[in-house]
Amino acid sequence: MQDIINNLPKLAKDKHKENKTFFTKLKKKTPKQLDYLMQELHDQEFKRTDCLTCANCCKTTGPLFTDKDVERIAKHFKMKPSQFIDQFLRIDEDNDYVLQSVPCTFLGADNYCSIYDVRPKACREFPHTDRKKFQQISNLTLKNVEICPAAFNIVEEMKKRIAFK
Ligand code: SF4
Ligand code: SF4
Repeated sequence: MQDIINNLPKLAKDKHKENKTFFTKLKKKTPKQLDYLMQELHDQEFKRTDCLTCANCCKTTGPLFTDKDVERIAKHFKMKPSQFIDQFLRIDEDNDYVLQSVPCTFLGADNYCSIYDVRPKACREFPHTDRKKFQQISNLTLKNVEICPAAFNIVEEMKKRIAFK
């Protein structure tokens, strides 16, 4: 897995133009069954990709923390939300709460998340490949394929399965 992760930025860069063109077409001519197809491709990919052998998202990009995330995780640690924020978070250029540093503080050496049951919504949903109206997050996906091998494979499969005339 580490070899795949190391090669991913280059692979994604090589595919960037093709992917951009594909997502532009996807927005203009969104297939009616896209939500179903994405669910299928997502499930198929995550049957063979074990996130515990990867954890590249937790190591290289942190999630955004919503107010609800902060409240829930602070409660888990029996902390006040303000204490939790002071200790672990910072505000980024988009005015969102993010981790002070990556790899994520809550990631164990075994790649397990120590706050898995209460983890941020963004972590639960990453890489968003099973979300509805997937065509709406193409810019985010273009970035995610650089760090997430599963997202990369899913986009490659999409290009095979959706033919634009
Ligand atoms: S979601 Fe993607 S980047 Fe994160 S651990 Fe799973 S395969 Fe790796
Ligand atoms: S909170 Fe857990 S799932 Fe989210 S980035 Fe940190 S270790 Fe990964």
